Amino acid sequence: MTNHVLYRGSRMPLLVKIAIGFLLGILFGFIAAPMLPNTPFLSEQVMPVLDLAGKIFLRLLTMLIVPLVFSSLVAGAASVGDARKLGRIGIKTIVLYLITTAVAIVLGLFIGNIMQPGIGMNIPAGLQQSVKESKPVFDVILDIFPSNPISAMVQANMLQIIVFALFVGVACVVAGEKGQRVANFFENFAEVMYSVTHLVMALAPYGVFALIATTAAKYGIALLAPFAKVIAAVYIGCIIHALVIYSLLIILGCRKSPFWYFKSIQEAAITAFVTRSSSGTLPVTLACTRNNLGVSEGVSSFVLPLGATINMDGTALYQGVCALFVAQAFNIPLTLQMQINIVVTATLASIGTAGVPGAGLIMLTMVLTSIGLPVEGIALVAGIDVVLDAARTCLNVVGDTAVCAVVASSEGETLKG
Ligand code: ASP
Repeated sequence: MTNHVLYRGSRMPLLVKIAIGFLLGILFGFIAAPMLPNTPFLSEQVMPVLDLAGKIFLRLLTMLIVPLVFSSLVAGAASVGDARKLGRIGIKTIVLYLITTAVAIVLGLFIGNIMQPGIGMNIPAGLQQSVKESKPVFDVILDIFPSNPISAMVQANMLQIIVFALFVGVACVVAGEKGQRVANFFENFAEVMYSVTHLVMALAPYGVFALIATTAAKYGIALLAPFAKVIAAVYIGCIIHALVIYSLLIILGCRKSPFWYFKSIQEAAITAFVTRSSSGTLPVTLACTRNNLGVSEGVSSFVLPLGATINMDGTALYQGVCALFVAQAFNIPLTLQMQINIVVTATLASIGTAGVPGAGLIMLTMVLTSIGLPVEGIALVAGIDVVLDAARTCLNVVGDTAVCAVVASSEGETLKG
């Protein structure tokens, strides 16, 4: 196994620096929020610079996604060695991804039913927001298959890139010696991308400070208050899902301690929380899973890029809570049948959600329209989406690592810890 040490040499100091950046960002944002309207220096000079710094950091992470996913998936599929083993790992991975996602939605609905986040909401009349229409389900399925892999890469269409990469990876095995040479090239290329990740992550404490400071200044404490219940429901749901479901997976599937597991993947969880992008976090997720959990390159290169694209437990849970929230806010009773529909559509929607900030909000339209809830509800949730996105992305990424560890164990790999 290649050793991609992300936080080389200074593992704890960098983590501590990121945490400090995060806390200072919150402090700065909340202090700045009330001062913004009367302090032009702050609103016109400081905030735009912070905004720019945060966006640059996100772009640097994002620039790695396409080359990293493609090269690591080709190398990963090829390194599994035989197509039958790849099929076996693929089926296990997808089944586990689907089950954990469905459980997450049920949990979201359960918590939503108990906490009733939307009851008594005062929705302003004429509330409207232009919302992108979501696609019909058949089109979502068709869209998985690329007609032109290069344009899929240009558009960063992750599902299409994954499909093409899997074909290339399997073909590398089938094509014998020449295929092996191509697989080696992609393995080396992926290695270089990890080095770029290392360089980018050195900037993380500053990027995190800038991102959190601008978000906290924009939304302030006061704006969070009316939505405290829905925020609490999503956060409580994410925490319960992680602590119960993933702990069970790790205990039963890997025979390891959940403490060890959560400690091992904390960098990925924090990065996901802050960047709100599963795809952007992928380099860190790969590094944690390989270096700290001890999963092989073959399994992690296959399971994690796939998970960053299709496995979104946090997004699914959030969609369950938000569908209930919107129904309650608009006083529409949700029947059991409608709640079952939510489980099915939210599973599909979370599969089709891109691992980028805010994508889950767009896919929520698919869930709302398919069960006949007003799409205007999106505008309600949009105001607090940043806060919800942080938690759901964190759960999305943690879920990928848990399934990855279980698949690796089931393939006879010995994990660390
Ligand atoms: N931001 C989430 C992710 O990257 C997707 C979402 O918006 O739900 O995993």
